[in-house]
Amino acid sequence: MDKNRIFFCEPQRAYMSIYNCANLRNRPIGKAAAGAQPKMIACERCEMFKMVDKNKVPTVTLTEYLNGSKPVGVSA
Ligand code: SF4
Repeated sequence: MDKNRIFFCEPQRAYMSIYNCANLRNRPIGKAAAGAQPKMIACERCEMFKMVDKNKVPTVTLTEYLNGSKPVGVSA
């Protein structure tokens, strides 16, 4: 799977690459070590990433995204 593909992250209402989503959800919960950022509440509560991992969300390639294509939201 191309980790650069872009999907619409419903909890954050933002376009996001699959790679970024994986990074964000692997942040530590609660107090993070100096320099590190803690996990966002949206990611803590997120159920959507399971669908991201299973390739069940609509995506566009990064190139398509940069050319103006937007992936539709799951509930759209
Ligand atoms: S884990 Fe959920 S809220 Fe966080 S970026 Fe991925 S889809 Fe969005």
